[in-house]
Amino acid sequence: MDSTYLQTLNPAQVSAVKHSPDIPLQILAGPGSGKTKVLTSRIAYLILQHGMAPSSICAVTFTNKAANEMKERLTKLIGKEKAGELRMGTFHALCALFLRKYSKSIGLEGNFTVCDAEESKKIIASLLKEYKADLEAKDISLKDGTVLSLISKAKAKGSSAAEFMKETRSRLQKSKSSGSSTNSISGDIDMIVAEIYHDYEKTLRQNNSLDFDDLLLFGLKLFSENQHTVNWCKHVFVDEFQDTNVTQYELMRAIAVACCVTVVGDPDQSIYGWRSAEVGNLKRMQTDFSSVKQILLEQNYRSTGSILRLSMAIVDQDRSRIQKSLVASHPAGTIPVLRCFSSEQAEAAFIAVEVKRLVAHMGGLLHWGDFVILLRFNALSRAIENALQKEGIPSRVLGGHKFFERLEIKDLLAYLQLVDNPHFTPAFMRAVNTPSRGIGEKTLSELLARTQKSKISLLELIEKINDGKTPDIKPPVKRKLQSFVTHIRLLKRMAKEGTSPADLIRRLVEVIGYQDHLRQTQPDWETRWENVQELITFASDVNVDLPDETRELAYDGDTIGIDGSRDATPLRLFLQASMLSSEGDHQNEENDKEKVTISTCHSAKGLEWPVVMIPAVEQGTFPFYRSEDIEEERRLLYVACTRAQSLLYISHASQRKVAGETKGKELSGFISAVAKQNPSLFTDQLTSFTPDERAVISKVLDRPKPSDSDVARSVAELSVPSSAIELSPLMAMLFHLQPSSIQASCS
Ligand code: ATP
Ligand code: MG
Repeated sequence: MDSTYLQTLNPAQVSAVKHSPDIPLQILAGPGSGKTKVLTSRIAYLILQHGMAPSSICAVTFTNKAANEMKERLTKLIGKEKAGELRMGTFHALCALFLRKYSKSIGLEGNFTVCDAEESKKIIASLLKEYKADLEAKDISLKDGTVLSLISKAKAKGSSAAEFMKETRSRLQKSKSSGSSTNSISGDIDMIVAEIYHDYEKTLRQNNSLDFDDLLLFGLKLFSENQHTVNWCKHVFVDEFQDTNVTQYELMRAIAVACCVTVVGDPDQSIYGWRSAEVGNLKRMQTDFSSVKQILLEQNYRSTGSILRLSMAIVDQDRSRIQKSLVASHPAGTIPVLRCFSSEQAEAAFIAVEVKRLVAHMGGLLHWGDFVILLRFNALSRAIENALQKEGIPSRVLGGHKFFERLEIKDLLAYLQLVDNPHFTPAFMRAVNTPSRGIGEKTLSELLARTQKSKISLLELIEKINDGKTPDIKPPVKRKLQSFVTHIRLLKRMAKEGTSPADLIRRLVEVIGYQDHLRQTQPDWETRWENVQELITFASDVNVDLPDETRELAYDGDTIGIDGSRDATPLRLFLQASMLSSEGDHQNEENDKEKVTISTCHSAKGLEWPVVMIPAVEQGTFPFYRSEDIEEERRLLYVACTRAQSLLYISHASQRKVAGETKGKELSGFISAVAKQNPSLFTDQLTSFTPDERAVISKVLDRPKPSDSDVARSVAELSVPSSAIELSPLMAMLFHLQPSSIQASCS
């Protein structure tokens, strides 16, 4: 256990860590100022110095990956056992955990299935069909994704289907009586969305499922109406608070109803307004928690001086922004590189060659894993991926096509979801024809209509199919349906007998002949089959790492399955872990250290890399032309630049292919404005090293993990003048060193 953690903090950070555990605290500070580090240290401090039980601490992070990283850091500070007792995770994961445990308190079945966006879209698409004639008559085209996002926005504001309908009606009424010329089409759309919202909720409940927004809304209901469900909590911590939405804020209040809170955030990094985040929650907290203390941190420990100077120049262009001081702890380092290319291919080729050059040049100090390429959106990754591949550089896409959204993973999860929750129709619809059993849409919709009348699940209905009341289904189809149900029954029995989720998947792929199915239907079946193996690995990990709370749950299953038996909950826990896994959660961390990361700027939030490259910084792309909030786009670029520790590259192409069409492109206004004002913020020269610096590198690299003093001694021995160190890219690379210690031993 590390008892020196307070010594690695500056005085402002220490005062934040030691601040009274009974007085609410807001830590507001810029990127790289150690907010997350302070939050983690404060958790350790409350446990070690104030004797707070780890199980009475609730820490909310933005992704599960961030929660795991925090748990890892805390394991070093307070030990594995105590760290395992902390209640840590995203708002979604925490809600899901407690909703399972106390489902009965709010009238839910414990075996509810979490419905992901793709499944939600399918439900909405089928509901939209009922409005087809109406929409056509009014010449309105409405997409499932649009409807889902409008419903999701309403839910993020805590507005139920009934409330949304009421609000919509009264808004339309008002604009009618005021004679306002509000577009009648938009009024029609609002009403249809309100109606679909209502039907969508009904369908979700029939399916015994909750979508992601429901997890928060039902969680809020649970916590606010049943105080005993939050009595365990003595302190709530929230990281990245600037990106919480109204419902999440209310959740924090509900969990912290009888205890204290610490939140950390940065208004300059609020980048989720488009997903209803309310940066105003920071202000609101000052009213709701009247005694709240604010602590500002002003020292940046992540980036070199030049990177920070450029980043500040970008965000400072937002005149409405409240100025905050942020001082670099590291030397100026290398000036950020700005380059223009003739096409996206030329830009991508440069990136790949430059990554390779730097790795070769730094003789082992930089690895593939030290590089990230940050994109405004995922679709820009194709040219980059190709170029990296061409140069033989391994890469991974963070937050790209998510592991759990892949076809082969969804196919197998559908079977398991059905084993767990027979009422979850989207899973039935997917599994029943995977592999194809030739069961037609007509048969399926007929069966579905019948279940809605009799309120039984499709599986139960199929079991009763021989009762003579289903003459319209032909015997061969009946046989196929029943053989499908037999598979589900088999898995159900195995799960009940305690077969692990990993073994269930192994058996499942065998009985349905899934490998053959992939081989026959997918050209890249081998990669897909590897993913199936990866799913099995993931399944075995989930079981091993059950936190106490979940372990308790595992024997608390009291819901009714297909045959009225008690359910096997390890399966449910596995399903929950996979449904809630967020961007970048499911990555093989060890392997990833050997790969260049390609990520969206959004997914890179809170993270850092030695080298950051941001291509396609062009008008229309960054800021993205569809974005409604230009300042949010600017902040996003600021977030991207401030991920960089040592080297930053910004580039653009004068021509880019967009949706199959080549278009002329201009450098983003965010950058051109800054470059015009202060051209010295950028260079077009690439980093290189002096012989002295190279000598230091090789000297330092003789030691597996060079300490600060190792480097200082090497530098001193080579008698590199301290002015060279001040500007040296090498020193910038060694970002974790305190420059003062190096200079002291050089002078
Ligand atoms: P972001 O806003 O991007 O989430 P943050 O404020 O949460 O940033 P951290 O990620 O906690 O910042 O810290 C940034 C880096 O600075 C980390 O590598 C961290 O270990 C380091 N750091 C923070 N405080 C100190 C300190 N006092 N001394 C040395 N390094 C520090
Ligand atoms: Mg952070």
